[in-house]
This record gives sequence, C-alpha cells and structure tokens, in this order.
Amino acid sequence: MRVGYQDGVVYDCLVTDTPEYAAGQAIASKQVPWMSNIKYGNYTVYFVVVVIFIAMVHRLYSIFSDASYRSQRARDRAATFSVELKSTSRSSDKISQHRETTRQVTRGVVAGDISRDASTTGASTPAETTDAVFDNQLVAEQSRDDTVDLKRDRLTDGLTGGPDFKRGLNGSDLDFVPNSNPSGLTAPVRKMVALVRYIGYRRFPTVWTETVGVPSSVGAVLLLGAGFLYLLLWCFIPRSYYKACIAMGSPPLGIRSGLMANALTPFIYAFAGKINIVTFITGTSYEKLNVFHRGVAWISFFFALVHTVVFLVQPAWEGGAKYLKEYFMATPQYTSGVVATVFLFVLSIFSLQFIRQRYYEAFLHVHWPVAIGYLGILFWHDTGALASWSFLWATIGVLLSGYLYRYFYKTNYLQLRRNWFSLDEAVLRVLDDGVVQVNVFSSIINKWKPGQHVYLRFPEIQPLGNHPFSVASLPEIIDKTDGTAKLRFIAKAHGGFTKMLYEQAAKKTEKEYQVMLDGPYGGVERDLYAFDDVCLVACGSGVTATIAFLSDLSNKLATVGPPTGFPMATQKVRFLWIVRNCRNIEWFRNEITNALESVPSGLIEVYIHITGNQNMDSKQEIRPFDSPHIVIEHGPRPKMNQILRKWSESFGRRTLVVTSGVRGLNCDVGNTVADLQKLVLLGKTNTHGIQYEEISLHTEMFGW
Ligand SMILES: Cc1cc2nc3c(=O)[nH]c(=O)nc-3n(C[C@H](O)[C@H](O)[C@H](O)COP(=O)(O)OP(=O)(O)OC[C@H]3O[C@@H](n4cnc5c(N)ncnc54)[C@H](O)[C@@H]3O)c2cc1C
Repeated sequence: MRVGYQDGVVYDCLVTDTPEYAAGQAIASKQVPWMSNIKYGNYTVYFVVVVIFIAMVHRLYSIFSDASYRSQRARDRAATFSVELKSTSRSSDKISQHRETTRQVTRGVVAGDISRDASTTGASTPAETTDAVFDNQLVAEQSRDDTVDLKRDRLTDGLTGGPDFKRGLNGSDLDFVPNSNPSGLTAPVRKMVALVRYIGYRRFPTVWTETVGVPSSVGAVLLLGAGFLYLLLWCFIPRSYYKACIAMGSPPLGIRSGLMANALTPFIYAFAGKINIVTFITGTSYEKLNVFHRGVAWISFFFALVHTVVFLVQPAWEGGAKYLKEYFMATPQYTSGVVATVFLFVLSIFSLQFIRQRYYEAFLHVHWPVAIGYLGILFWHDTGALASWSFLWATIGVLLSGYLYRYFYKTNYLQLRRNWFSLDEAVLRVLDDGVVQVNVFSSIINKWKPGQHVYLRFPEIQPLGNHPFSVASLPEIIDKTDGTAKLRFIAKAHGGFTKMLYEQAAKKTEKEYQVMLDGPYGGVERDLYAFDDVCLVACGSGVTATIAFLSDLSNKLATVGPPTGFPMATQKVRFLWIVRNCRNIEWFRNEITNALESVPSGLIEVYIHITGNQNMDSKQEIRPFDSPHIVIEHGPRPKMNQILRKWSESFGRRTLVVTSGVRGLNCDVGNTVADLQKLVLLGKTNTHGIQYEEISLHTEMFGW
C-alpha cells in the first residue's frame, strides 16, 4: 500500500480504480486546475516588468528634466552673457572718455608713484609706466562699473530666485549665471527620488562584500530582497502543496516553484548581456545590471531547489525510497531536472565573488558554455508544459538579438561596416611601475562618451582573454580619410592578462599588436551637461574613468558664454585624484594642465592627494602646475565624507558625483552621497540660498 493524504482522507495510491480514489482525484484537480498554474509564471514576470517600467519612467523623466534644465541654463547663460556685453560696451564708452581726461589731467600727479608701480606693471619707460598705472586703475573701475550694471541688469531682467552674486567664479561674479529655485510642482518627485537614493546609494561595508560576496549596493540588495519576498509569498501562501498521490497530478508547490524559476530565465540572460533589452529600455548599463544577473540567478536556483525537493518528497512519502527510485527511473523529467539543477548550481556557485576574483578566466570559460547548456536542458526538461517554453523562446530572443547586435555592430572583428577579421593596431608603452599605456588606432570604434569602456583582446598575447578598460581619451579623429581615432587606455597590471600586457610593453620592441575591440559600453546614464556641479573622484587607475569627463567638460566649458557656445548647465567641476605617489600624476599631467588652462580660471578645481610615503616621495620632484586651482597634498587617505560635505555647501541646484576606483572609495562616496540626499529631502538651500534639487551618483567599480 502507498499511502496518500488529502483533506484528512487517506488514500491507497496503488489502488486507483476505487470511487474514493476517483473522488480524491476530482478534488485534487478542482483545487488546483492544471492550467491555472500558468499564472505563477506570469506573476513572476509582472514583478520584473513593473520594476523595469518604473526604471523606464524614471529614465524618461530624467531625460526630459535634464534637457529642459540644460536648455534653461543655456538660455540663462546667454542672457547673462549679453547683459555682460551690453554693460561692458556701455561702460567702456564711459571709461574711454574718462580714461582720456584722467590721463591728461593727472599724468603729472601720479608721476611720483611711478617707481613703485613700475615693479608691478613691468613697464620700461616712465610714460609707459604711467599709462600702465592708469590702465590698471581704470580696468579696476571698469570692472566695478560692469559689476554694478550687471547686477542691476540681472535683477531687472527678472532672473528670479535671488541671484547669488557671491558665488562668482574667480572671485568675481561676472562668470556666474544666476539661478532660480526649483519649481515647487516637482518637489514630490524630487523628494521621492531623494528618498530612494538615501537608501539605494548606501553601500554595505567592504568586508561583507569581499568576504561573504554580498553585493555592495544596499539598493540592489533591497530590490532583490523585495522580489524574492514577493515570489516567496506567491509560492508558499497558496496552501495546496502536494497531491494525495503523485498519480493524481504533480504537486502544486513543485509546479509553482518550477514555473517561477523558469520565468526568471529570460531576465537572468538579459541582465548578463552587454547588449540587452533592459539596458535599451532603462539606460542602465550591463555592468550595473550584473548584480541583478547574479541575484536573480540565485533566486531562480532557490525555486528550482524547491521544485526539485517537492518532486522528490511526494513519491518518497507515498512509497518510500524504493518507490522514489522506481518513479525517478520511469520519469525522464526527473533526470533532466537533476541535470538542470546541477547546471544552475554550477553557474551560481562558480560566480561567487571569491572564485571570480581568483580565477576569472576559468570562471568565464566555464560559465558561458554551461549557461548555453542550461538553456538547452530546460527545453528538454520543460517539454513545453504550461507555456514554459515561451520563457525559453524569450530567452533565446534576448540572447540572439544581443549577440547579433554586439558582434556585428560593436566589435571591430565581425563588423558589418568593414571586412571581417580585420583588426586594429595597438601600441604598448610602460607608463609607470606595473602600469601600461595602450594606444589603439581604430576607424570602427571612433565614437564614445566619457566614462565608457571597451573590451580589448590581443590574440598574440592572450587569445581567450577579453578585458574591459575605460577609454581615458576623448574621441578625436586623427586620420580624416578613414575616420581613425586614437583610444588611450591605461591598464594596471594584476595577475593575468594585464601582467602579460605589461611584460610585453616592458620589452620595448616598438611592436604594433593586432587588437580585437568590443565596445564602447557603459558611461553615465544621465546628461552630463545638465548639472551645475560635477565632482569627479577617483583613486589610482580608477582615474581612467574620470579623466575623460574632465577633458570633455573643460573642452565644452571653454566654449560657453556666447549664445553659440555649447549649451550646458555646468558651473563648477571638481576633480579629486588620490594617488600612491607623485609619479602617477604624470599619467595625466597633460590632460589636467589642458583642462585648467582651457577654461576661465576657477571653473575647474583639481585636488591631487598623495597617500604614499611622503619622505620617499619628496625625493622625487613634483613638477609644479602653472595654476592656482590645483592643490597637491600628501597625507593619509582623505576622508571622503568630510570633503563631499564641505563641497556640498556650495553645490548648485543639481550635482553629479562620479566615483571610480577601489571598492572602499566607492563605498565611502556612496554612503556620503546617500546622506547628502537629506539636503534635497529637507528642502535645504546652499550657502547662497539656492535649493538643492538633486545630487546624483555614478560609480565605476572596475569589476562586479
Ligand atoms: C567597466 C570596467 C572598466 C575597467 N577599466 C579599467 C581601466 O581603465 N584600467 C585598469 O587598469 N583596469 C580597468 N578595469 C579592470 C580590468 O578590467 C581588470 O583589472 C583586468 O581585466 C584584470 O585582468 P587580469 O587577467 O590581469 O586579472 P586577474 O589578475 O586575473 O584578476 C584581477 C581582478 O580583475 C578581475 N577581472 C579579471 N578579468 C576580468 C574581466 N574580463 N572583466 C572584469 N573583471 C575582470 C578579477 O575578477 C579580479 O578581481 C576595468 C574593469 C571594468 C569592469
């Protein structure tokens, strides 16, 4: 006898031709009709779709608000500029009259001051010196007049919200574009976003992340947790777990959980693809989605386990181990189910952080074939029951579209725009101890945005290795005939590919290497030019991600002012780079110098913090920069919360903080920016009376 229970009734599962058994079977199928299980797959999808939808709405809102803020600020800037022009020409007429009279009347009077002033003006003759002194005095007067006119005009032009003249750049207010407070209408949205960021930007302590492998982002963990809880409730709240006998039908709990695991599959694959539909809809780049790829895979694994256990328990309860074995051998889905679960286990367990960190290549080359195999096994296991294959076809659609787009459009070796397998050239150079510069010349990958990265593969150095590096340069066509651009990468040597790269460069053979490229990917989701303040914070080689922002912003800032200038809201860029020794500064000395020199003084502030041994470092000379807007200091790691809090006092309405480097830095910056959301939440104003509208964060982790 094989005993089964249902609603307190005992059945003999071996005797199936009794009226009691037939009644039991009728009750079982009425309680949970077979086709009704389909809804659990759908419920699973709904959750993810709703989250993606919210992300899409947020993206659209950001696009709209960035565009309108940027154009409003560009108009403000143009208005300010024309006011400056007007007031300058008005006062310059007045001044030239005044200058002439003064020059004639007082030349003799100031002659006594000539010797003192000659030293400051650098003039060689008394007449020249006198003129120079007059000019200095008059320029000062002119500047005062301009300021008065400008202030009056700004007020009368109705640039509302109490223009803040103190927040002038370069000590004067002439460069400053007055701002108004954000509209009260958008306050609820602003505060909601700030609240989400207050929680979501937080980071778990690095030890947790590095030892236990918890994702560092609190927001990601909470979102995954919410999804998991939602599915747990759908799975376990319906009380129908088992059938009296397995012959009466599959255990409902096993079916539900299996369908949930199955329905998550398209999302697991979508979150992994460099090109994927989720990135397309939400703008969130694949490397930021990777945490969801892993998290959702673990959730799927959990439900696959529930599914497996329930299907093993049901026959075991009925007829013990003997019947379980019999049933197992007689049912092909048991075999395919075990294989699928083992594959999913291998995929999940080998992606644990400590394995990926130590054996990335091995992990990668096991991961993708097993992932393809897993999908095939699911087709075999699911047999198309309960619309389960629809999730698998969706997965194939996601995979294929991503791969086709990526290989035929994003790579340089399977490009539709040129011959296949024609690669680009790369030149390697040792830049510093353990640091190699890679210059790549490509006519295919010749457009990218600051902060984006490209995958490099050197068939001669490591044919299977495909590694991401941020492009440290800006897209600039160096050969107009074929549109070739130079991509500059800086790679820090670790244990594998980067070490080989460094060793090749150290041979100094001047050799040109063939390189396979794939990219660009990533970058900031938001409009970089729609923020008043941009703070770029990096340590070590993390600067490769922030330096391009600095170069780009300085290029654009150099043109702002006249209405024909680049339309942007940016008023201040702060660039902080924490390095171990002063030699590191040389990697990007030119970029930093150019940035400081190309914009009106004070628009860009550069802070370089050297954490290495000061005595050792002082033996090496730090070549000075010719700008008062760079601060280089030695000391222990700076406290990011203090720095950002200080900076935040003068943040404009909208601020973007970009951070790149080791996990600890990203953690500190993330937590501080999370705290700073209080400024928005509580409707605080900066030291100049302007309300904070948003403080947005973008992190580059150089890993996942
Ligand atoms: C988006 C992004 C941009 C990056 N930009 C730069 C840059 O501009 N300059 C720079 O020096 N480094 C950058 N990195 C890091 C760089 O890709 C890794 O240091 C490099 O891949 C390590 O190769 P390896 O074989 O020498 O590593 P190993 O010594 O084998 O491992 C070192 C670390 O790198 C990780 N890693 C190894 N291979 C990869 C890979 N293919 N993808 C992701 N992580 C990997 C490992 O998990 C481990 O944590 C970036 C990483 C990412 C994700």
